[in-house]
Amino acid sequence: MSDRDETESTDGSAGSDPTDRSDADSTPLVRRVTDWDADRLADLAAEHETPLYVQDLDRVRENCERLRDAFPDADVRYAVKAHTGQAVLRSVREAGLDAECASAGEVDRALAAGFGGERLHYTAVNPPARDLDYVVDVAEAEPDLTVTVGAADTLDRLAERGYDGRVCVRVNPGVGAGHHAKVRTGGAAKFGIPYDRAADAAREAAERFDVVGIHAHAGSGIDPEQLDSHREMVSRMGTLARELAEPDSDAAGNGDAPVPLDLEYVDAGGGFGVPYEENEPPLDLPAVAAATREAVAPLPAGVDLAIEPGRYVVADAGVLLTRVNTVKPTPDERVVGVDAGMTDLLRPAMYDAYHPIRNLGGGRGGDGSDAPPPVDREATPVTVAGPICETGDTLCKDRALADPVRGDLLAVGIAGAYGYEMASQYNSRPRPAEVALDDGTATIARRREALPDLTTAEREAETPTGPTGGER
Ligand SMILES: *Cc1c(COP(=O)(O)O)cnc(C)c1O
Repeated sequence: MSDRDETESTDGSAGSDPTDRSDADSTPLVRRVTDWDADRLADLAAEHETPLYVQDLDRVRENCERLRDAFPDADVRYAVKAHTGQAVLRSVREAGLDAECASAGEVDRALAAGFGGERLHYTAVNPPARDLDYVVDVAEAEPDLTVTVGAADTLDRLAERGYDGRVCVRVNPGVGAGHHAKVRTGGAAKFGIPYDRAADAAREAAERFDVVGIHAHAGSGIDPEQLDSHREMVSRMGTLARELAEPDSDAAGNGDAPVPLDLEYVDAGGGFGVPYEENEPPLDLPAVAAATREAVAPLPAGVDLAIEPGRYVVADAGVLLTRVNTVKPTPDERVVGVDAGMTDLLRPAMYDAYHPIRNLGGGRGGDGSDAPPPVDREATPVTVAGPICETGDTLCKDRALADPVRGDLLAVGIAGAYGYEMASQYNSRPRPAEVALDDGTATIARRREALPDLTTAEREAETPTGPTGGER
């Protein structure tokens, strides 16, 4: 599946625009839903049923390589929360990326996928006691693990547990406030130590821990329109790194300049955007890399740049396959009912996110005969709605699709990030299976859940003992 030149579109779509590929040697900058082999997807759906996640590990590796090529001198860390499946994690590890984890569970999964401590970064956000206990335990065996901390309380709680290892200070760069709504969101006070207090916080932390880096993750997508805010955020981080690592460079002759910190890196976070809409251009990764390098410069000697992409690594490597079971004309809209919904892909319901949808056909017309291939059907505006009893449970509204009929297979594109990962069992819906494609070979990466999976924890419940201790 990795060679899109072999891809045949059966719905008449032309596939990626040539500009999706930066030059002849490199891999495409994006894999659109139209680039997937329709026959292959139909076979997978027939064999494994729907809803079904398909995640192409070859594409995951291509995305990792493109990131490493664009940022050759940077540490590239995969933010595993975008997709924590073992097959994905192993591919990312083999492709040479580190793992950035947001919870004990994610650290546990990364360890299982073979990431050693030197490649593990745990970012603690209001960490539950149980998570800190676990990670401090792991750090005893894996002392090269790094904990990224965004609050003084978290530092105290680590110290209480006897931790004195590697710490990275998460900074809230507060960039763009008032200019870009999305970045304002990214600068939410929940995350990081306010920029103005970050230098002092880092120096204080260095009295108890090995402070190895500073970190900022601005949140929302880095896209061509937001490059300026990204540049500003990165530039502030460069300034802070110089202030910490070379404190006397701007206080020349001042006898009581603070002790320089032995920083290893400045982590500029993730947020590398992917083009969800069909006509949206892909991110110009080399341009983002150049802007990032330029804005952070000059980095003190021995300090590297680090980045933490999540979505970019996995989003276009995945599709969600779903089958049409209901077609209902109404006075206002044509409702197409499918077997996947907000439990399987939450983004449209939660963020009003756009996902491309392609009708792969295969259904039958009202008289029971095979419907014509989608390419021969009229583009018709439809609402695609899932099986959950929620008004918000739609995958799209007023979208022109090759007029769906019952039994058609729909491919929801760019679904590899935050799809599988945000899936829930709401409405007591067992979560779908996932098939991983590796070198073109399909294997089940996660089995489909069955009804008994819904009640396992209830049936296994015994006298509620729970964890002991009352750490606040
Ligand atoms: C979510 C997250 C990322 C990754 O964000 P993407 O938009 O998926 O690239 C990186 N770093 C941190 C700290 C995060 O919370």
